[in-house]
Amino acid sequence: MYEQGVIRPPSEASSLLVRVTRNCPWNQCIFCPAYKGTKFSRRTVEEVKKDIDNMAREHDGYANMIRSAFLQDADTLVLKTADLLEILTYLKEKFPALDRITSYARATTLKRKSVDDLKQLKEAGLSRIHVGMESGSEKVLKMIKKGITPEDIVTGGQNVVKAGISLSEYIMPGVGGKTFSEEHAKETARLLNLIEPDFIRVRTFAMHPMSPMQALVRDGSFVPMTEEEVVAEIRLLVYSLNEMRSYFSCADFSLNLLMHVDGRLDEKKAYMLKELDRFLSLTKEQKQAYSLLRRSSYMQYPIDIVFNDDLMKQVIPEIEKLEKEPDGFNKYIKTLMSYQLPQPQTDEWK
Ligand code: SF4
Repeated sequence: MYEQGVIRPPSEASSLLVRVTRNCPWNQCIFCPAYKGTKFSRRTVEEVKKDIDNMAREHDGYANMIRSAFLQDADTLVLKTADLLEILTYLKEKFPALDRITSYARATTLKRKSVDDLKQLKEAGLSRIHVGMESGSEKVLKMIKKGITPEDIVTGGQNVVKAGISLSEYIMPGVGGKTFSEEHAKETARLLNLIEPDFIRVRTFAMHPMSPMQALVRDGSFVPMTEEEVVAEIRLLVYSLNEMRSYFSCADFSLNLLMHVDGRLDEKKAYMLKELDRFLSLTKEQKQAYSLLRRSSYMQYPIDIVFNDDLMKQVIPEIEKLEKEPDGFNKYIKTLMSYQLPQPQTDEWK
């Protein structure tokens, strides 16, 4: 028997999951259901080693085939560096074929770790860190109660890059709403240009029905964006990013409308802008049809699907039905998107 946490990045779907801490030490972000209703705790090195022993027993005979591991939960690097080094060394001893060990970390935690500590962790096997930055805008970070500043994001990210550890920064188009959309895109790009992470992973915002952000919608301080507006925001973001080595990725998250907008910025920035513009140049009806097709299933479609007359004849009446309610189409799309979010572990998320 061994413990496992509730989430891991999609890119770690086939990794060994090693729970080093439980839940999230911050847990206050108002958009994030993942750990609501849970309490953070650190696990002792002995507890984690016992789990690793049990995993090694379970994988007896094929431990040598396990190539990647992910350290859970939301901010593993809050542990003392010495404890993490002991855990990494033990993990590699029991699973000698591991060539990738990764973890989530908060920007504030990475800012507190010295580059030297991070270099030691890299030497011990930590090869990639995933960071939820969400936005580069101070106003947006405050509104969503992220508990980090733009300065934390830049210093923390640069520490990881200087230590030679691969860095994934996660960003959230739409989370600033209409009011902050432009600032959100430009400030996010400005910070990413300073950090030059290995990966920029796009996580299009969707609102959970229980999220405290619903109250911001009611009092008018958060104005939700349409699919078209979010695509325009992503276009401004990509336009504002340097042609750098960072890999801009929409492909690994199904809430991203245009998942094929994906590639290294120094190779594919022009292509990505062209695809975003192709969507933005469609008629309102075509954009709605594309959006409805994408949100109604996990299928990906080329933008050209909207030029298929037979298909459009089936989709348009559905859009017209939804449009009979005020803002009915957009509300329906938002409901479909919210189904893909993790559930909070409480009925009283406030
Ligand atoms: S987004 Fe990350 S830091 Fe914020 S509550 Fe969720 S897990 Fe914790």
